[in-house]
Amino acid sequence: MSRKPFLAGNWKMFKTGEEAVSFIGQFKSVTSSLTDRDVALAVPATALEAAAKAASGSPLIIGAQNLHWEKEGAYTGEISAQMIKATGATMVIIGHSERRQYFGDTDDKVAKKLGAALWTGLVPVVCVGENLSDRESGRTMDVLSSQVKGSLAGVNPAEAHKVVLAYEPVWAIGTGKSATEGMAQEVHVFLRRQLKEILGPQVADQIRIIYGGSVKPENAANILAQSEIDGLLVGGASLLVEPFTKIVSSPC
Ligand code: PEP
Repeated sequence: MSRKPFLAGNWKMFKTGEEAVSFIGQFKSVTSSLTDRDVALAVPATALEAAAKAASGSPLIIGAQNLHWEKEGAYTGEISAQMIKATGATMVIIGHSERRQYFGDTDDKVAKKLGAALWTGLVPVVCVGENLSDRESGRTMDVLSSQVKGSLAGVNPAEAHKVVLAYEPVWAIGTGKSATEGMAQEVHVFLRRQLKEILGPQVADQIRIIYGGSVKPENAANILAQSEIDGLLVGGASLLVEPFTKIVSSPC
């Protein structure tokens, strides 16, 4: 089954609205010639509206990096799916390992956030990944199985095909130490099997599974050449126009 590649940048806590507009002004024309793939940027909440406006008229997808599952309420500092949508953004990252590690995002919370994103019509990019001690103790597949099952628990089967699943080994994020193509492919094959068990083969075959962790212009094409890798989630290398342009233009 052919799936449209999904290539996304995650700016984390970098760039003001003004800086986002300047980046997108230089970058968005790149996306116009890349119609065979989806290209996205997850920007800080404070830059969402300006980024969505700057990207309008181009295929560049703008997204948030987190959300709260309630529509509104007494949740100081949080933003809802509806608020994200109102900025013009259409995507959201859920359960990034930095959220799981520093801000208490559990699989239960990820599942609730996923429900809110889908209900609101945002494309959810759900992140899973093992840490170094999981990998070294041979627990990678157990940890991933439990994260996938927990994060997708209760997902509406009619909407599940819209999910993008990001495999991001925690030990590879921001460390310069990427998984080898073979390691990533092995995990993606396993994740597809898990998705088949949970959602059935038809839905599972439509879900894009993307890789993230120290992706650079130098390794992007080799990673994308793997049959089960449907795209990339890029942190550090998405902050500058030139390397990110090279990455998103890689053969898919
Ligand atoms: C990320 O933040 O999702 C990520 C993969 O970061 P980096 O590319 O910098 O490892």
